[in-house]
Amino acid sequence: MWKTSILAAVAIAAAGSACARASGTAADVVITHANVWTGDAVRRNAEAIAIIGERIVDVGGARDIERWRGAGTREIDAGGRRVIPGLNDAHVHFVDGGSQLDYLDLKDAATPEEFAKRIGDRAKTMRAGEWMLGGNWDDQNWTPARMPTKEMIDALTPSTPVFLNRYDGHAALANSLALKLAGVTAKTQDPAGGAVVRDAGGNPTGVLKDAAMGAVNKVIPPPTPERRLQAVKRAMDHAASLGVTSVQDMNPPYEDIAIYADLANQGKLTVRISAAPMETGWQDQAKLGVHRSFGSDWLRLGAVKGYADGSLGSTTAFFFEPYTDAPNTRGLLSDEMQPLDQMRARLTGADKAGLQLCIHAIGDAAISQILDLYSEIVKANGPRDRRLRIEHAQHIAPKDFDRFAALGVIASVQPYQAIDDGRWAERRIGAERVKTTYAFRTLLDKGVRLALGTDWPVAPLNPMLTLYAAVTRATLDGKNPNGWVPEQKISLQQAVAAHTAGSAYAEFQEKDKGTIARGKLADLVILSDDIFSIAPAAIKDVKVLTTIVGGKVVFQR
Ligand SMILES: [Zn+2]
Repeated sequence: MWKTSILAAVAIAAAGSACARASGTAADVVITHANVWTGDAVRRNAEAIAIIGERIVDVGGARDIERWRGAGTREIDAGGRRVIPGLNDAHVHFVDGGSQLDYLDLKDAATPEEFAKRIGDRAKTMRAGEWMLGGNWDDQNWTPARMPTKEMIDALTPSTPVFLNRYDGHAALANSLALKLAGVTAKTQDPAGGAVVRDAGGNPTGVLKDAAMGAVNKVIPPPTPERRLQAVKRAMDHAASLGVTSVQDMNPPYEDIAIYADLANQGKLTVRISAAPMETGWQDQAKLGVHRSFGSDWLRLGAVKGYADGSLGSTTAFFFEPYTDAPNTRGLLSDEMQPLDQMRARLTGADKAGLQLCIHAIGDAAISQILDLYSEIVKANGPRDRRLRIEHAQHIAPKDFDRFAALGVIASVQPYQAIDDGRWAERRIGAERVKTTYAFRTLLDKGVRLALGTDWPVAPLNPMLTLYAAVTRATLDGKNPNGWVPEQKISLQQAVAAHTAGSAYAEFQEKDKGTIARGKLADLVILSDDIFSIAPAAIKDVKVLTTIVGGKVVFQR
């Protein structure tokens, strides 16, 4: 009944009758005195919004919306502030991100003494045997710079196994208890692609590099359901505080999805989640007949995520030509791609089952191979609205832009990583290849659809940083104030559209999300400043004042 009246209200509103309100129907919420950027081509700007239940029933001038006010209507006065559609992060690792918010962060520990003290303080708050993870430490902060050792922390952590990452993720410090649990001793051989750092006597110092970290990672128990739930709640609160109203969660373990489903059933999700588990398990979804965008407005399945290669930072992104600063390698294809026939068979099967494909590809050769696979799949399974995606799409060979567009492949990109990698990417791949690196402008010019995201926790979840990065391309080291490869800047309108409607399209949700328009889900944010009129450099400091998801306020500053 209640639902019928909303539908009637939306229908009448959509019909555009002079009196847009169905008689007897009042809005649950009206947002007034707003400077609305709708993202909707029909009506770009508006002053007020009316909401019934989870949906927007009207958007317009102050007087249009006044008609929706009833005795029980709640008014949210936006105070003249900028209102935009809720941000949709097209690529996150949600539970990892939430877990990291609870971990120790040692990035700003200025001395080895402070580093050790913080670890000791944290250990006192933990149960015996519970692993201390996180870290994010940076030995380059110390004078003189030197790698930490287990001796610095052993006495402070007698019953706490410790494994703390260097900020770049390529080294980690274990205490003696963690080494013991992992069986790492003076006799342990260095694995291929890794090193056990040793002292003069040949004994492990506690620092393990790259592949050697695997020995400890293997013995860290997976999080309990309580831990996962805790991480999801932390992540949801964080998202709400940043105006992120939808996330697309890449490679969640099924245990995470079970937690989302519980929360969805209890009506406790405050962010909408689309989950894309590993492609290697595609049959799990296919067996159940789950296909693209299956689920509810709060939780969807029906996509799979895979990897074609590694990353630029670790020289494992796969290129046609060798790395400029490491001429002995051109990167690595992922295990999933070897042999290629099996990857092709899995992806073709997944596509045939109606699942959406999202594949991580960073180097130009990896991207090219995925485009090859995608065209073979289209040929094999026939035309369909499948919205194939390439995640990251960082370094694209000039010859591949047209193919990208012709196949309708969505570029799911993370602009913050451009201003982060932009500090050193040219040293790594040379001046020619950086021209088509993070090539957002070229992609748009060629007609490729962008979906914006962060890869959180690899980059911060804050959409204002993502928008700032896309429009300024000002690297984090301050060395490119006018933009690194400035030809690839996009406009703020394009960036906001890509982070809202673009991301919604990438999850088949553009009819329900991504703009502020009649009939759409009432997901929107009120900002502290007008991003469209301030200097682009100031966008990174803009705060979210209010976040509304499905007509409910989920965050208020
Ligand atoms: Zn990722």
